[in-house]
Amino acid sequence: MFRPVPRATKIVATLGPASREPEVLERMLRAGVNVVRVNFSHGTAEEHTSIVCLVREIAERLGQSVGVLADLQGPKIRIGKFADGKVTLAAGDRFRLDVDPAPGDRTRVGLDYPELVNDVRPGDILLLDDGRMMMRVQATTVAAIDCVVVQGGVLSNRKGINRQGGGLSAPALTAKDMEDIKTAISFEADFIAVSFPKTAADMSRARELMRAGGGRALMIAKIERYEAIGNLEEILKASDGIMVARGDLAVEVGDAAVPALQKRMIRMAKEFNKIAITATQMMESMIESPVPTRAEVSDVANAVLDGTDAVMLSAETAAGKHPVETIEAMARVCIEADRSDVKPLDAAFLNRTFNRIDQTIAMSALFVAHHMKVKAVVSLTQSGSTALWMSRIDSGVPVYALTSEERSRRRMCLYREVHPLLIAFHAQEREALLLEAEQRLLEAGIVEAGDLIALTIGEPIGKSGGTNTLKIVRVGERA
Ligand code: PGA
Ligand code: MN
Repeated sequence: MFRPVPRATKIVATLGPASREPEVLERMLRAGVNVVRVNFSHGTAEEHTSIVCLVREIAERLGQSVGVLADLQGPKIRIGKFADGKVTLAAGDRFRLDVDPAPGDRTRVGLDYPELVNDVRPGDILLLDDGRMMMRVQATTVAAIDCVVVQGGVLSNRKGINRQGGGLSAPALTAKDMEDIKTAISFEADFIAVSFPKTAADMSRARELMRAGGGRALMIAKIERYEAIGNLEEILKASDGIMVARGDLAVEVGDAAVPALQKRMIRMAKEFNKIAITATQMMESMIESPVPTRAEVSDVANAVLDGTDAVMLSAETAAGKHPVETIEAMARVCIEADRSDVKPLDAAFLNRTFNRIDQTIAMSALFVAHHMKVKAVVSLTQSGSTALWMSRIDSGVPVYALTSEERSRRRMCLYREVHPLLIAFHAQEREALLLEAEQRLLEAGIVEAGDLIALTIGEPIGKSGGTNTLKIVRVGERA
């Protein structure tokens, strides 16, 4: 029987009005969503909580593992509202950004972050609506920024503002973010994404708040500030993963700098044993169109080739016309790219050194997998860290991570090449547990009699971080 190797690269789908209905959510999950993203830039705490419940109910019914990523709004600076909802501005028009909350018109609009007036200087370039509109600062007063439009267009309510070259003073965690962290903890988010961090301290502060509130989420730093690029190493160390947040990042550093930064960020994340998510406009045209453009197909495939753990969909699944088709198309592109360029354990692998026993076992399993062409690596893991280490190396071999911890199962949804399975281990003793694991894989049709597999397990059984044993077996052939 031919059983295809499962998709290695994970898909994160943002939820929104287009993905609220249970039937749509079910089809999205069936199409291969691994992690759902709830975006705190929109909606209420109640809405987020109820959609997360619904997703978990459906996932449970389908027997699927689905993680939840709570994305904090962060200090995104936005304009206020217009009396008519939007205005059209042309190059050369004068326009004023001020601290007046009154509805805007063709000459002015308010700002939700009054301090912006202190952060900008004449000559600065301000980008609005993810760079679709550009203004040059002419003059500033204590209450207003006078600009001239460089690139015109339609400007509508609550669009974001960035300053080219960064340098905005807003702190990474707003009062709203702190409230939203509590909400994320209450629905047991598996991942919390911090928007616009500039330093490791921004991440540590978010993690402290999360821990103090009783949360156990993994912390993801969204790299979307100019300053974050220079501090990438320290931010990585203080985080569990990063998001290549290309929307805001492109505005801050210039769009042309982003592709190379994406490659560097993903490579560095892997080196530091952290997760990487590649985000924004990956399938943008599918908001309207049922098929992706050639450029989008290439973009997704290239992110996979860069080694990303996950590719993310934003408006495509939150507000687009074809959420299910978008996921199907993305999955199809990932599967083909996953296996197109497997670099079998390069020489650098041999030069790596480890000082932890569990990490050494994880690396040994990959070594075995490579040399003996095993069908799968099977890891009995409590915390999921063995699976994380295995997935930092591009081995081309699927890792089935068996855990009895629902939390570990859900966080492993984001690890490239790792396929979490929940198992209620009945046995107490090592050999019996390994047999149980083998049985579970046989039942799921993942392996069949005669397949070679590499298993890892720890003793004492059930101790987190205790992986110390590697066993190679041929399925169904043991004494
Ligand atoms: P956002 O972040 O969708 O929350 O803005 C992603 C990005 O900036 O690319
Ligand atoms: Mn952003």
